[in-house]
Amino acid sequence: MSVSYPTLLSPLKVGPKTLRNRVVMGSMHTGLEDRFYDAPKLAAYFAERARGGVALAITGGLAVNRRAWLAPMSGTMANAFDARLHRTVTRAVHDEGGLIAAQLLHAGRYSYHPMSVSASAVKSPINPFRPAEMSRALIAETVDDFANAASRARDAGYDGVEIMGSEGYLLNQFLCRRVNRREDEYGGDIENRVRFPVEIVRAVRAAVGADFLVVYRLSLLDLVPGGNTFDEVLFAARALEAAGVHLLNTGIGWHEARVPTIATSVPRGAFREVTARLRAGVGIPVCASNRINTPELAEELLANGQADLVSMARPLLADADFVRKAAAGTPERINTCIACNQACLDHAFSLKRSTCLVNPRACYETELVYRPVVVKKRVAVVGAGMAGLSAATVAKERGHDVTLFEADASIGGQFRMAAVVPGKEEFKETLRYFEHRVRELDITLRLGSRVTAADLAGFDEVVVATGVVPRLPRFPGVDHPKVLTYAQVLRDRVPVGHKVAIVGAGGIGVDVAEFLLHEHGRGLEDFHADWGIDPTGSAEGGLVEPRRTAPSRRIYLLQRKPASRKMGNGPGKTTGWAHKIELERAGVVMMGGLEYEKVDDAGLHVREGDTRLVLEVDHVVLCAGQESVRSWVALDDEGRPKDGRFHLIGGAKFAGELDAKRAVREGAELAARL
Ligand code: NAP
Ligand code: SF4
Repeated sequence: MSVSYPTLLSPLKVGPKTLRNRVVMGSMHTGLEDRFYDAPKLAAYFAERARGGVALAITGGLAVNRRAWLAPMSGTMANAFDARLHRTVTRAVHDEGGLIAAQLLHAGRYSYHPMSVSASAVKSPINPFRPAEMSRALIAETVDDFANAASRARDAGYDGVEIMGSEGYLLNQFLCRRVNRREDEYGGDIENRVRFPVEIVRAVRAAVGADFLVVYRLSLLDLVPGGNTFDEVLFAARALEAAGVHLLNTGIGWHEARVPTIATSVPRGAFREVTARLRAGVGIPVCASNRINTPELAEELLANGQADLVSMARPLLADADFVRKAAAGTPERINTCIACNQACLDHAFSLKRSTCLVNPRACYETELVYRPVVVKKRVAVVGAGMAGLSAATVAKERGHDVTLFEADASIGGQFRMAAVVPGKEEFKETLRYFEHRVRELDITLRLGSRVTAADLAGFDEVVVATGVVPRLPRFPGVDHPKVLTYAQVLRDRVPVGHKVAIVGAGGIGVDVAEFLLHEHGRGLEDFHADWGIDPTGSAEGGLVEPRRTAPSRRIYLLQRKPASRKMGNGPGKTTGWAHKIELERAGVVMMGGLEYEKVDDAGLHVREGDTRLVLEVDHVVLCAGQESVRSWVALDDEGRPKDGRFHLIGGAKFAGELDAKRAVREGAELAARL
């Protein structure tokens, strides 16, 4: 047992199974569940996590019938073929000493197809399809389908099932007045609203026998109007316990909630209070979830008695060896999930295969393989931003002799700037990880070293990862003292006045706006107050009136394209809406369809059609995209390096649409080939 995390690493008996430690890999849709030919990839993905020490993994949601599909052709657990297919997955996990449960899902009114059903015919704001109200006969059939799916899961070799009852899916829809308007025995007070989930649990238990684990994922804070109060949640929890559930996993917020629950801006462990309340009220183990990404926090929650287990999904995508590294007493080696959602949930919600920004091998375990090198080469990596760090560490891990050159005094490049944005503090973890990894791998690091092509004569391969510089738009007065680049604001901390115009409303424009609004940071209480969260869950849905504070600055967020609904969203599909709400609440004026005429002592002069305006601002911050830094490399007419030893990656290859996700992946893919 590790001296560092004694509770986290101690075993626990849960129902009929003994978990080797307290780490549950929470359910996460990867996209690999949906295609039968991806079963070997899914098996490799889970096997790697089991080898890394996870006690119990839970699959992405598997529909109990076709009507339950989240989207057409989603993965199911409904017949003998499904069971046979999943044996590959369960065998791989068992071979590594882990346990695995299948998550049984009915999406209800979140089903993205015209056959969707729900407790009542109440459309979800995030789905164009209106559900049909379930008849009593269909309810009974669905109970049978859950029981059948659990039997199939047992046939497939799963150790248990998790019945998905949170995040606003079907069972959560039955549980809350928000959707459940029924007047029969399945509607009305909580006793009736929990009837359908209870019938399912009973039927599942009857179908699978006593040695099969039954987990129920219960929504603790719905975070939507018409959601349950904590007393109702507790009533449901006790009813589910009495029906035969062995373990209560927890969920926070419906998918349609307009409160962020897992984004980087959500403080770590933000929902522990309500989890602790549940644990105190039931007699079975409770698993905490949402924004738990370090072994320290997990240990603290468990040791304080706030939960019996911790569920982590994204942190185990980011580092399959999370548990093993914690057990070895080396948490500094963990590649920490930064809660960006960019490669996992943003992909899942775009029906793309999930992966991870900081670990491009996630869900690509059989495809992106770092094989030991046959011929050791001298590799120069120029630039220690995300692309260069990724390339250097993978190349060295494979056995090459790597020298990493960086012109700045520290590593990190653009990512170091992002890490100062309020709500993106987690990004520092990636810098810590790479700093440690460079040292651990004994990579020769040359900081403050601006090289030229001539300096690199002795290398067999040269990775050009010199990144980008801010683009300077061409309008009169761009050299006026009022004008700053985003790098001067975020990196050099040049003081900025009270009234500010931001030129460019892309990801960095939004970041700069957030930085200028919340320069002094925000804690957990601010997070709860600003978003109107009652962390105890006593209020209906866990929602109270959000706090309104006067914004610290007057900000204009500008672009030349016409203003769209998405303006101010930033790039994240699952996080953009929260940025937009924050900016709107802070009174940020978003203007599109502009032409920038000039900057002078009066401010920024713009034209909108025939109307001319002067934005009387103290500063104009340029967030107008970037340009690649690669003029030091000789390129041919098609933009490829003339010297075959040189390889362009990340922003140096292409500045548009640059993000850390592409940079890290390109670095790793190139280094895997060298
Ligand atoms: P961006 O998203 O491409 O936005 C650039 C902005 O500058 C646009 O609003 C564009 O709008 C404007 N612009 C372009 N050329 C201009 C010119 N010549 N004069 C004036 N305005 C000009 O780029 P970014 O904001 O620099 O972000 C760079 C990359 O980092 C993006 O791919 C982004 O996704 C990524 N990023 C990600 C995050 C994250 O949280 N995931 C955060 C920050 C950045 P108009 O052309 O309409 O004026
Ligand atoms: Fe975490 Fe971002 Fe990776 Fe998703 S993509 S697992 S949020 S680091």
